[in-house]
Amino acid sequence: MTEQTVVILKRGREKSLLRHHPWIFSGAIQQIKGTVHPGTTVAVMDMEHRHYGWGAYSPSSQIAIRMWSFDPQNNIDDNYFRSMIRRARDKRTPAPDEKGVSNMQRLIFSESDNLPGLIVDRYADYLVVQFLSTGADYHKDQIVAVLHDLYPDFNIYERSDEEVRNKEGLSLNAGVLIGKPPPLLLPVTEGDCQFWVDIQHGHKTGFYIDQSTNRQKIRKYVRGKEVLNCFSYTGGFAVAALKAEAQRVINIESSAVLLDILQKNLELNRLDISRSENITGDVFQVLRQFRDSERQFDVIILDPPRFADSRRHIPKAARGYKDINWLACRLIKPGGILITFSCSGAIKTDLFQKIVADAAQDAQRSVQMIQCLTQAVDHPVVLHFPESAYLKGLICRVW
Ligand code: SAH
Repeated sequence: MTEQTVVILKRGREKSLLRHHPWIFSGAIQQIKGTVHPGTTVAVMDMEHRHYGWGAYSPSSQIAIRMWSFDPQNNIDDNYFRSMIRRARDKRTPAPDEKGVSNMQRLIFSESDNLPGLIVDRYADYLVVQFLSTGADYHKDQIVAVLHDLYPDFNIYERSDEEVRNKEGLSLNAGVLIGKPPPLLLPVTEGDCQFWVDIQHGHKTGFYIDQSTNRQKIRKYVRGKEVLNCFSYTGGFAVAALKAEAQRVINIESSAVLLDILQKNLELNRLDISRSENITGDVFQVLRQFRDSERQFDVIILDPPRFADSRRHIPKAARGYKDINWLACRLIKPGGILITFSCSGAIKTDLFQKIVADAAQDAQRSVQMIQCLTQAVDHPVVLHFPESAYLKGLICRVW
């Protein structure tokens, strides 16, 4: 057996481990006994040499260790990855394909599935994987072999090209790991909707799977209504709204390439494209133009990109959220609906609610919250790791 490297924590810094929080910050480390290489597994102990479990060491990141396991008896080996990947699969509703419901699903959600830094999303017969931490990257070959074994009929494509890898001292990679290169656009099914997904260049792993439940939930508010869909991406909400017989959907998106895919998505679903209008532009500006021309809408959806990457960015992000929500409140017909999201983990639900309340007050509108929305069930939230709860949404009636 090779000599095990031991990380000793400063006194008191084991407290978060006792609560099974999986991150150890570099400032919590008292001493490292043995040699460490990026990504290798270390034993984590307190000053009295009590052993709390095993983690992956990342010298470049502020998060110096991400815990694989809080059980000192575990070995972090093929069997560990196999049992965690299998457990993640078994926890989720079985093979959605067979029910004819959906062939798009998050299969592994990082810390929430005891696999920090590992994301696996399924799109039809492709698994798209991201190795976003030094530890996940170090075990890449083992993890891919286990995935191939557990999902033998799937192609596996890597999208480790998220900026967060830079913080971990990792370069950005993408490409085929197993099987065929993906087509430019891959058709996937979600309930009665179909979407073209660009798994090579699309955001995240290609699509906003985390909004799947919300695409259903918005439906009952849009029938016969004029819907302004801000930050539309490739039209997840646009397709859902038109399927639910919205009278008209106006999409605003800064990327013309994404609006082209949106248009293809309407065609794929055989929707009446004359009921949709696409505006390539900046939501902040377009909403102001609508305000100046006194346009009004029945329903407004706001699903912006992440404004806050960390707590440091909260004040600036809050101003951004307030601005678009303020504009939206002004543009909604009395009794109309605002569906507003934030995917910034650093902005908690109560703060988001307060931002929207302040925006409504400044717009001199009164707002009733009808429903609270969150990320889809395949993005579970581990309660001892509240950072995994990042997507929040409010459905509000605006008077
Ligand atoms: N609602 C989408 C996901 C939205 S992601 C869905 O459910 O699939 C946010 C989108 O906003 C991205 O497509 C991004 O290109 C776009 N975007 C970012 N900043 C923007 C801006 N200022 N104006 C318009 N679009 C913007």
